[in-house]
Amino acid sequence: MIEDKNQQRTQLGDLGEFGLIDHLTKNFKIKQKSTVKGIGDDSAVLNFENNKVVVTTDLLVEGVHFDLSYMPLKHLGYKAIMVNLSDVYAMNAKATQVTVSIAVSNRFPLEALEDLYAGIETAANIYKVDLVGGDTTSSNTGLLISVTAIGAINANNEVYRNGARPNDLLVVSGDLGAAYMGLQVLEREKEVYKVNPNSQPDLEGYSYIIERQLKPEARQDIVELLSDLNVKPTAMIDISDGLSSEIIHICKQSKVGCDLYENKIPLDPQVISTCEEFNIDSTMVALNGGEDYELLFTISQDDFPKIKANPNLTIIGHIKEESEGLHLVTRADTRIPLKAQGWKNFND
Ligand SMILES: [Mg+2]
Repeated sequence: MIEDKNQQRTQLGDLGEFGLIDHLTKNFKIKQKSTVKGIGDDSAVLNFENNKVVVTTDLLVEGVHFDLSYMPLKHLGYKAIMVNLSDVYAMNAKATQVTVSIAVSNRFPLEALEDLYAGIETAANIYKVDLVGGDTTSSNTGLLISVTAIGAINANNEVYRNGARPNDLLVVSGDLGAAYMGLQVLEREKEVYKVNPNSQPDLEGYSYIIERQLKPEARQDIVELLSDLNVKPTAMIDISDGLSSEIIHICKQSKVGCDLYENKIPLDPQVISTCEEFNIDSTMVALNGGEDYELLFTISQDDFPKIKANPNLTIIGHIKEESEGLHLVTRADTRIPLKAQGWKNFND
């Protein structure tokens, strides 16, 4: 769909492994004080002084986690970084460094990897993280990307999944379900293209949800906002797999129950209209769609006045005793048990 036949194709073998890493990373600049030595030696050297360090890693596999027929490589590079930074922010930490390793088959020319690294570089610049290492190797099938993100927490500011207490408020940033509906639109256009390769994808009117799928943003701003508001969540997680399963993680690990209010779940108007078009229930999309990369957290009721007027945050429920269970309170005011996959055939 996006292949340009006139593009230059330089075979990777022409550079060799060391030439390739040097070439792909030559424009990256060091931004963090904690990076003592970045790329160029056997290991990176980092100095966090008295801060605690968080480390998280993620592996993305072509055909499993992404589809290059509608995912431009530049966006893929950007998203691979976001997925990892989101996990750093979910600890209430500041992201500082990343390492990126890739395995590529020989169907990728150098120019494709330059696009991938351009997306990685854009993400690193915007989020002020240093690329401090990585590896490249060949793969027999497709593309694999492994990113490790490192972050710092000062004092005792880390937030785990297990700190929610009865009567805490359940809060989410941004809005939900858009990345999943963006994927539905992209998949539909891919099918149209298969039947008629001369067709132009019809993506008008879907710009927000497609951007949420192809170019998600990790919520560094929410971690900063909470710090500015002097709110320390009691528990926090990022929403990679859908609201429902993330709530279940927090409640299980905190040994609590909860009520989630259907009418409070934040949805963008474009999600609602696209759900109507596809005849999909928008609540189910928010609960199970995934890839939103918003932050879900619990706060003490004492902190309610600090967050109540903030347009970035929505209170969607509250925490209860474990014995009361986990429920979705519907618009019709019925209580149904919250399940990790409330809708069969999702993510098939
Ligand atoms: Mg996570």
